[in-house]
Amino acid sequence: MRLLWRRAPGNEFDHELALLGVSVGTVVVGTIWLALGLPWPRCLFRALTGLPCVSCGATRCTIAFLHGNFLTAWQWNPFAFVVFCVLILFDLYAVIVVIGRAARVRVVDWTAREKKVTRIAIICLLALNWIYLLAHHDRF
Ligand SMILES: [Zn+2]
Repeated sequence: MRLLWRRAPGNEFDHELALLGVSVGTVVVGTIWLALGLPWPRCLFRALTGLPCVSCGATRCTIAFLHGNFLTAWQWNPFAFVVFCVLILFDLYAVIVVIGRAARVRVVDWTAREKKVTRIAIICLLALNWIYLLAHHDRF
């Protein structure tokens, strides 16, 4: 696996612009949703089992994160917290390359073994996150 910086051909799908649009759009829609006092999402898994699912606390994590309460955000859902940090870094990168029409970073020569290791690492992180949430399920 290696990272390659290259200019996107004119006919190539603009991944950075699309993901930036989805990211910003989600925050805008979520902010409007909460400002209007609409109901928060309910967790079906928690309703059925009484236990948190792997994404429980992500909404409260988001709200705490957007208010700058990072420790509280981490405590609500560590995996979601890490995802938000990565997303902010990606959004900053996307703004720079989209507005500046700069070279884009691409992952090339990704072997099957590297993909498998990455998938396993993400699954392990999700499992650790879920164990953490289950250990602190009295908060939910
Ligand atoms: Zn849940």
